[in-house]
Amino acid sequence: MISDCAQNISPFIVMEVMERAQQMERNGEHIIHLEVGEPDFDTPKKIVAAGKAALDRGETHYTHSLGIWQLREAIAQYYSKNYSISVSPEQVIVTSGTSPALLLALSAILNPGDEVICANPGYACYKNFITYLKANANCVYVSEDDGFQYRPEEIKTKITSTTRTILINSPSNPTGNLLSPKVMEQIASLGMMVISDEIYHGLVYGDRAHSMLEFTSNTIVLNGFSKLFAMTGWRLGYLIVPPELVRPIQKLQQNLFISPNSFVNWAGIADLTEQNPEIPVMVATYDERRKYLIKRLREIGFKITVEPTGAFYVFANARRFSSNSYNFAFELLEKAKVAVTPGIDFGSHGEGFLRSSYANSLENIKTGIDRLASYIKEQ
Ligand code: PMP
Repeated sequence: MISDCAQNISPFIVMEVMERAQQMERNGEHIIHLEVGEPDFDTPKKIVAAGKAALDRGETHYTHSLGIWQLREAIAQYYSKNYSISVSPEQVIVTSGTSPALLLALSAILNPGDEVICANPGYACYKNFITYLKANANCVYVSEDDGFQYRPEEIKTKITSTTRTILINSPSNPTGNLLSPKVMEQIASLGMMVISDEIYHGLVYGDRAHSMLEFTSNTIVLNGFSKLFAMTGWRLGYLIVPPELVRPIQKLQQNLFISPNSFVNWAGIADLTEQNPEIPVMVATYDERRKYLIKRLREIGFKITVEPTGAFYVFANARRFSSNSYNFAFELLEKAKVAVTPGIDFGSHGEGFLRSSYANSLENIKTGIDRLASYIKEQ
């Protein structure tokens, strides 16, 4: 009764950790959550007000399948201004989150048997979406010694006649590292289409993140409002695509999703056109937590070779304690009451690592690390 594809898709392990943690909480236990990649902040006030105003105006109907024009314009202007490039609103497609954007992008370009080059470790869903479309993820190992940067010369050796695209994600989930402009330029020079997941742009503590569009127009940009604007529950994302992909993706969106959420489109305009003073405060707060978490994890004995400077994750080498990250993460949850994500969720090369998110208060991070430290000391 159950299809092969539903049968075979891997679970998203971070969700399994979270769901077990929630079950423990229902049984009265106190858990510190460092597993989920979700801002602990509320959505900035002006964005909420714009969403409410849109509801009050009756913006509750289907929109154009590509999203409302004013938001497409705001996104094009935001990209053109922030990255000194030229993006037309015609190239922008609004979606109900970055996840549907990824599904639409991959559906538009992949035939069964095609290959996508992606990083291992990398965001777990990439590989699962690719497999769902009966295509193959051709993984390139990225190493902590390189700050988890792709080596373009290694990508080059992986390109075959069936390779359709190279997937990049900078800043990266799970590693929190950024690709250098030099590496991005070298990837562009390989001449392949690049899918660039830029969802963590803006959450950067140091040099700014670069858009792949600065290096090649043969790019599909994926982005969304979940992370920087603390809007995970609103479900709003977008694609910026080469002109010839607009129509195929439009047809897919019409059939699969009809349109993105209407009043949420209007809130998205407030993200990009209003001053939202909460955002720089959030970024500064993440940075403070980042420094604290890195310092404490190192003190306990986790190895962090290159400090992460983006997103809100620390991907720490835990091999000193265990080579089985799945078992170790669940052991820490059951015994130390701290939820972290096993590195194996992000690919075979993530084995031996744990991902901790600092999208939680400094106070909770401190309690969580104190618990980890005393549990590990007792072993
Ligand atoms: N890409 C990456 C790298 C992510 O980490 C996430 C969320 N965890 C997404 C895409 C999807 O985000 P959303 O669907 O909430 O926009």
